[in-house]
Amino acid sequence: MTGDAAGRARACVRPEIQGLSAYAVGDARGLIKLDAMESPWPWPEREWADAWAEALGRVEANRYPDPSAAGLKAALRRVMPVPQGAGLMLGNGSDELIQLLNLALAGAGRTVLAPAPSFAMYRIIATVTGSGFAEVELDEAFGIDVEATLEALHRHRPAVVYLAHPNNPTGNALEPEAVEAVIRAAEGVVVVDEAYYAYADHSFLPRVMEHPNLVVLRTLSKVGLAGLRVGMLAAHPAWVEELEKCRMPYNLGSLAQAGAAFALEHNDRLEAAVARVRAERERLAAALVAQAGVLEVLPSATNFITFRLPPGRGGAVHEALRRGGVLIKNLDSSHPRLADCLRVTVGTPEENDAFLNILGNAE
Ligand SMILES: *Cc1c(COP(=O)(O)O)cnc(C)c1O
Repeated sequence: MTGDAAGRARACVRPEIQGLSAYAVGDARGLIKLDAMESPWPWPEREWADAWAEALGRVEANRYPDPSAAGLKAALRRVMPVPQGAGLMLGNGSDELIQLLNLALAGAGRTVLAPAPSFAMYRIIATVTGSGFAEVELDEAFGIDVEATLEALHRHRPAVVYLAHPNNPTGNALEPEAVEAVIRAAEGVVVVDEAYYAYADHSFLPRVMEHPNLVVLRTLSKVGLAGLRVGMLAAHPAWVEELEKCRMPYNLGSLAQAGAAFALEHNDRLEAAVARVRAERERLAAALVAQAGVLEVLPSATNFITFRLPPGRGGAVHEALRRGGVLIKNLDSSHPRLADCLRVTVGTPEENDAFLNILGNAE
């Protein structure tokens, strides 16, 4: 009977889905986890544990969550530079918002455009939503190649363009002027994905009311709250009104809403944790530059650092780190220009030292 089900699945599931692999998350049990851009600092901090439990304890789990997440939206507007009059929509992580954007704007017969190399989910979600997907190579510094991008806009007429600013998995911020040139030239929507806003020095969020085709995404995942799955979309209300039609009414659970609202009341603590990571990033980058076997360390405006090893060494060093107890991300086969590149999330000073130690011995 199992064979029968496998045959039926092959016959029924859309071919483009069968061609995908589910997003792989490495098994981090027992390892120092520096693979997923999480904050290394525990939340809630110990002194808030009781207040946190009390806030979550007030949630009436027998009732559906607030479908508009009004309390959490107000908290987000207090701590983020959302311009007056802009609309907000929340998602179960910004991944869900990318899916919602494609459902509303892309789909069959329409194309999504993203630079390469960039965030792997842009392609996966385009495929799942039945959209076409086109890529345009980043320039030699992994910045936007404006000429090539304008040419790609002309050729593919994409319904949506995704620009991760700063970019994952390379870590660099994009040139604001280059992003603006793409926004101005695109007939479709340009989504500036600011998952790493807290670690960068430039943002398009204050500008969402100035461009009629600009949408900005943010997430609380990279600033210490990855477990809550809270993503935020900001745009002119005309876009939000349409996008809301594709959002499931209760996409954000009440525990996530209450937990995130509580955390944002203590935003100074979240910001302090971010500042510690930014300081550690500089120390870690300098230590990587000083490592004899590291060929290249890419500049980072994020909470991770991507670095290159000598030809053929990426996989072996990744494995040596894992055997030594540290899990990071192997980018080797993700894009030809990332051959022998590994991506390490900035951890606590102790975690980073453990990583550097094993790396030094692996060479
Ligand atoms: C991590 C990441 C996201 C997704 O974050 P969520 O956890 O789904 O909110 C989106 N875009 C980029 C570029 C990312 O690195």
